[in-house]
Amino acid sequence: MPLIDGFDRLHDNLRISVTDRCNIRCFYCMPEGPIPFLEREEILSFEEIERVARVAVSLGVRKLRVTGGEPLVRKDLPVLVERLCGIPGVEDVGLTTNAVLLAGQAADLWAAGLRRLNVHLDTLDAERFHKITRRDDFGRVMAGLDRALELGFQVKINAVAVTNLCEPDVVPLARFGRERGVEIRYIEFMPLDAQGLWDKSKVLLQDQMMEMLRREIGELEEIPDRDPRAPATEYRFADGIGRVGFISSVSKPFCLNCNRLRLTSDGKMRYCLFAIEELDVKGLLRGGGTDSDLAEVIRETVRRKWIGHE
Ligand code: SAM
Ligand code: SF4
Repeated sequence: MPLIDGFDRLHDNLRISVTDRCNIRCFYCMPEGPIPFLEREEILSFEEIERVARVAVSLGVRKLRVTGGEPLVRKDLPVLVERLCGIPGVEDVGLTTNAVLLAGQAADLWAAGLRRLNVHLDTLDAERFHKITRRDDFGRVMAGLDRALELGFQVKINAVAVTNLCEPDVVPLARFGRERGVEIRYIEFMPLDAQGLWDKSKVLLQDQMMEMLRREIGELEEIPDRDPRAPATEYRFADGIGRVGFISSVSKPFCLNCNRLRLTSDGKMRYCLFAIEELDVKGLLRGGGTDSDLAEVIRETVRRKWIGHE
């Protein structure tokens, strides 16, 4: 039986967090000060991650995305990527990264079979990069992006959109995307930050950004969505050069099409970024659980899914 929840949504997409650590400190995600990261033995090993992924694929999962924290801080990540790409039945493996370490790892990731990268970059201005990330790694991110494009990766840029900060970046990012053949995906600021800074007035909304793009660059045409369950609504510029996407979880929530499950770095299955409960798989992996036991936890996670994140 495929993984269908109580609202008729088919789940074929698993996001795998390989670490809770990160080498930068985006203010809308992590606090600046000392963070109590997980100990090494609390994190799933590559073997454990691969086993959960294999069971998920046996239940109909077809797309895997490696994320974090920052996935590239996890030692030997290309080894895991190669294993995930090699699971029979997997149609697509992607990686989401801040690209600080990408220049040095891109070739190994390519050799491991990875072809799709989402690079997180909110601004082309080094000073604003520092303000957002509290680190001076803008040059390294750009070098990582260049290297990935040189190797032939299909790259999308994820830009988080926060009011009174990111307005000056909306148009330059789109121009950059048009020049480099990279889709820019603007992500409305979500209440995910560790410091509780979020409030609705801080969300730069899709409609506001589209208005800026129309005014400064040109008309946008919606691209008929090939996969209606993809979270981004995509547009192309009417002159045929370049495209942008919007992940508008705040102004236009897309929960009704959600096809995702999540595996946390410490071995919990979640049905939503905002889930208030999670089911343990690490105990099964380390306590002699069978693949059927793991499959049951995955099925139960899907069964418990709510209609939305309220
Ligand atoms: N470190 C990697 C990165 O930054 O791409 C992967 C993990 S990060 C949590 C995944 C994505 O979440 C990022 O690309 C970023 O755009 C997005 N993100 C983080 N905090 C967010 C927030 N408060 N609201 C919206 N998107 C956020
Ligand atoms: Fe790190 Fe990604 Fe969070 Fe930024 S969004 S702090 S890069 S994990």
